[in-house]
Amino acid sequence: MSATILDGRATARAMRREIKKAVAKFKKGTGVTPTIAVVRAGEDPGSVWYANAIKKTMAGHGMDSQLHVLPETATQEELVALVARLNADSNVHGIMIQEPMPKGIDEAEVKKALSPDKDVDGVHEVNAGRLALAAPTGRPAGVGPFFVPATPAGGMELMARHGIEFEGKNVVVVGRSSIVGKPMALLLMRENATVTVCHSRTDDLAGVCRQADILCVAVGRAEIVRGDWIKPGAVVVDFGVNDVDGKMVGDVAYEEAAEVAGMITPVPGGTGPMTNAMLCLNVLEAAKRSVLSA
Ligand code: NDP
Repeated sequence: MSATILDGRATARAMRREIKKAVAKFKKGTGVTPTIAVVRAGEDPGSVWYANAIKKTMAGHGMDSQLHVLPETATQEELVALVARLNADSNVHGIMIQEPMPKGIDEAEVKKALSPDKDVDGVHEVNAGRLALAAPTGRPAGVGPFFVPATPAGGMELMARHGIEFEGKNVVVVGRSSIVGKPMALLLMRENATVTVCHSRTDDLAGVCRQADILCVAVGRAEIVRGDWIKPGAVVVDFGVNDVDGKMVGDVAYEEAAEVAGMITPVPGGTGPMTNAMLCLNVLEAAKRSVLSA
């Protein structure tokens, strides 16, 4: 294996120390504990697991979390009313609405009910729109502050902390979801990379991937990206999380890819831990803004 590992666990651990210090300073200065409210309807096992992980992560950084669970039979009005109540609660600084929501719920409408100032997951259209309108770095900002979804923000941070430069690079992002692929492409464009976005209708996906200096993959299909899709020396960032016979596997065939790539994220231990760190940063930022605007 020749690639250097982009170690998300070690990077997130280093970030945890920094965030804990920043949280302690904020709490001392304001008497306020940054708090996230996690909202769920039903008992989707993945959502239950993730809510527990958020609780632990927040506590580990000196922050609080609340869990608000409605039954699977909850109506859209009930979910929207809960979100409205949390929007109005000055002790809650960030809100995350877990997906999937129960059948019959219009997820877009529930997300719209969020206050953009508490949307620490970056799913509200105001935050998504501001990211889309943001000027490239080095130019006047153009739009006000906004929250970026934690997973792509974590991918960017992981690369930046390993000295990877984006300007002028050919970057290919595979996947165009609102929560990973699309914001990742926008973040990279903002850093002056030349970005190509691929999806399920892309012709010659392997050929496009082979052009990438940096290849970011968020598809949700185990090992779809093979070693011979990778340009020698490229940076490979794998967001995929797939369960194969009880084992967590990424979207990139890791062993093959690591023979060719210059740097690569493992799964697990790559982008996953970074997501949690970035969510914590977003909650701290939301708390800071709430104090400033009080
Ligand atoms: P979505 O299902 O929302 O999006 C998948 C994207 O992949 C779509 O744009 C889709 O294209 C594209 N795609 C599907 N099949 C192919 C194919 N054969 N060739 C090329 N493109 C294809 O997934 P998410 O973005 O939410 O998640 C992607 C992965 O990232 C999942 O494994 C998920 O578990 C993981 N994830 C990891 C996180 C982390 O912290 N590391 C956090 C969030 C997600 P089209 O638009 O045409 O349908």
